Amino acid sequence: MKLTFLGTGTSHGVPVIGCDCEVCKSTDSKDKRGRCSAYIQLQTKDNKDKFILIDIGPDFRAQALRENIRQIDAVLLTHAHADHMFGLDDLRNFSCIMSNKPDNPLNEKYDKPPIPIYTNKPAATMLRTCFPYLFSEKAEGGGHAKISVIEQTQSFFIEETGITEITPIPMKHGSLETTGWLLTEKTSEGPRSIAYLTDCNFISDESIALIKEKSRLSDGGRLVHLVIDGLRIKEHSTHFNFLQALEASSKIGGENVWFTHLTHNSSHIQTAAYIEEHRAEFPGLAAVRSILPAYDGLVITSGS
Ligand SMILES: [Zn+2]
Ligand SMILES: [Zn+2]
Ligand SMILES: [Zn+2]
Repeated sequence: MKLTFLGTGTSHGVPVIGCDCEVCKSTDSKDKRGRCSAYIQLQTKDNKDKFILIDIGPDFRAQALRENIRQIDAVLLTHAHADHMFGLDDLRNFSCIMSNKPDNPLNEKYDKPPIPIYTNKPAATMLRTCFPYLFSEKAEGGGHAKISVIEQTQSFFIEETGITEITPIPMKHGSLETTGWLLTEKTSEGPRSIAYLTDCNFISDESIALIKEKSRLSDGGRLVHLVIDGLRIKEHSTHFNFLQALEASSKIGGENVWFTHLTHNSSHIQTAAYIEEHRAEFPGLAAVRSILPAYDGLVITSGS
């Protein structure tokens, strides 16, 4: 299982429009952050590749071109805020290029099933409100994304041969219910998991127990990577700040921790230094190998 961070920035992205702060003017490529999204490559038992997108924000088109994305078999939506779903229209290209005309990738013949979007009930309702034409039989013109929305509360598999289990993890983002996603791959060496938990400022003990149970931590499983919302140093009403993200990570575990949804308030280097300075305050992090800010284009795998 391989995860590519398409975007790691907060809702404004970094640089912020009109801002002349040091981070927005930084020449470090790790300080250029698109809106949060991740692209995951899975393998089926018969060695076929499947590709999953977590969130599809307003920077999706540029992210898809940058990473040469050609296939999306499912979308996992954390919640229906603009920075996580307003790239949805650009899925229309995938309805075309994944259909059976490789010589004519932008043909108008849609002969693939709709791309499933898995999410929770409030987000499904908001999707239908924001994109009514996608759900209308009467929509004119053929060029819109072909999707189906699935309200998902239980673990499931997208591949017929099913070796990667996907579990929705309920979280709170202020008063909004959001969904973190846990992906657990069966390997010959035991289960290997990646947890992707944004946007949130509260994860219940039940949800933490669910992550541990589904990662099979007591049965030879490994939570190799934990990706978590870590907004900035200052507190915020709907996101973990850096210390809260460290505290939540210390409860969840994970061998490597990556902060995402970062602001322009700290540079990549400053964020890494802040984490290093404070991680010892959380004894539960002693066994964690690395805790770092993620960055756009970073690739992590369940094998390392
Ligand atoms: Zn967000
Ligand atoms: Zn700035
Ligand atoms: Zn949000």
